[in-house]
Amino acid sequence: MKVLVIGGGAREHALCRSLSLDPAVTALHCAPGNAGIAQVAAVHPVDQLDGTAVTALARELAADLVVVGPEAPLVAGVADPLRAAGFAVFGPSAEAAQLEGSKAFAKDVMAGAGVPTARSYVCTTVEEAAAALDAFGAPYVVKDDGLAAGKGVVVTSDRDAALAHAASCDRVVIEEFLDGPEVSLFAITDGTTVLPLVPAQDFKRALDGDEGPNTGGMGAYSPLPWAPEGLVGEVLETVLQPTVDELRRRGTPFSGLLYAGLALTSRGTRVIEFNARFGDPETQVVLARLRTPLAGVLKAAADGTLDGLEPLRWDDGAAVTVVIASEGYPAAPRTGDVIEGLADVADEHTWVLHAGTRAGGAGEVLSAGGRVLSVTAAGADLAEARERAYRGIAKIALKGSHHRTDIALKAAR
Ligand code: AMP
Repeated sequence: MKVLVIGGGAREHALCRSLSLDPAVTALHCAPGNAGIAQVAAVHPVDQLDGTAVTALARELAADLVVVGPEAPLVAGVADPLRAAGFAVFGPSAEAAQLEGSKAFAKDVMAGAGVPTARSYVCTTVEEAAAALDAFGAPYVVKDDGLAAGKGVVVTSDRDAALAHAASCDRVVIEEFLDGPEVSLFAITDGTTVLPLVPAQDFKRALDGDEGPNTGGMGAYSPLPWAPEGLVGEVLETVLQPTVDELRRRGTPFSGLLYAGLALTSRGTRVIEFNARFGDPETQVVLARLRTPLAGVLKAAADGTLDGLEPLRWDDGAAVTVVIASEGYPAAPRTGDVIEGLADVADEHTWVLHAGTRAGGAGEVLSAGGRVLSVTAAGADLAEARERAYRGIAKIALKGSHHRTDIALKAAR
């Protein structure tokens, strides 16, 4: 199978790594990729938002499967010309990707499907926003309606700050605050059959102890030893299958990766958000535990043949990933610095997945984004995986960079 992956973050590096380990994959390509992906796939400098250019590349490579990684090309509709040209594509259409691209659309689908979520108002004026804030009270939750790379959500007890965020967006969703731990549950679907993966937890805040601003994600782990038994089955029945069925019923079938961000509140499980693609950094730990070769699963989703697939096999052990971010991330990331020590990190349990990196001269790797790279490690349990990941982190030097020191700490205890 000749596979083309679209994207260039740590999620795509994790996908490429797993695909490169799958004996069914005879050629692996990525566009645009990054310095780490270039070690496992042929990279192509193609604009990932340009559906015509991506389709031309898929044609040139005679790709048997195209996997669209990030939300931006999905919401921009890159999967559509690929499908129209006859390619097997893993990733939803532009219409179905609105589940992530518009929080208001997602709320509407959830209402139609009877999926439990926070009560909410969609507001387009400051007056509406003020009324919605007062209807729910503090803490306030204000979400930019459109895509914002995980940074469009403000959760605060400061009413003025909440109102200021609402005023800075064209359209916001204001909703009730959900307490309780968060879980990310991914499912692979062909639009009808839904195959849940294993749950993971990510760390969205920039600083230890869940302080600081929201980010794209600073680390993740799986499994969740504290999660209630039967959680996956419950979410499949009450969230994932009804959502997939509702989207099919609306004539916008969702094929690809459905990501449910959940809050386990005292009043039951609630959906915080949906995403239309693998989550970053949870993908790093979920794929680390997947034993079934990946390409066949993604191809079956693209072909609409998931119901014939054997159950997925998983490693009983644990995986932890820790993200290194550049100085100033998330507000104003500094880029262009040399990353040192990378060659010393990898061993049979530990690997580096690149996000914002690019090749410099003389074999150097340079920082090129906010989240620069992640170190992922596997172990018999969370404590061992964590210890290995942080041992890897300690070997990497990047001027001004920061990472959290408490990824999976509580769960490992
Ligand atoms: P989202 O982009 O919708 O996933 O929101 C990003 C983060 O904001 C979530 O992971 C939560 O930590 C937080 N958040 C979003 N919605 C709520 C809510 N209704 N109640 C509490 N926290 C929330």
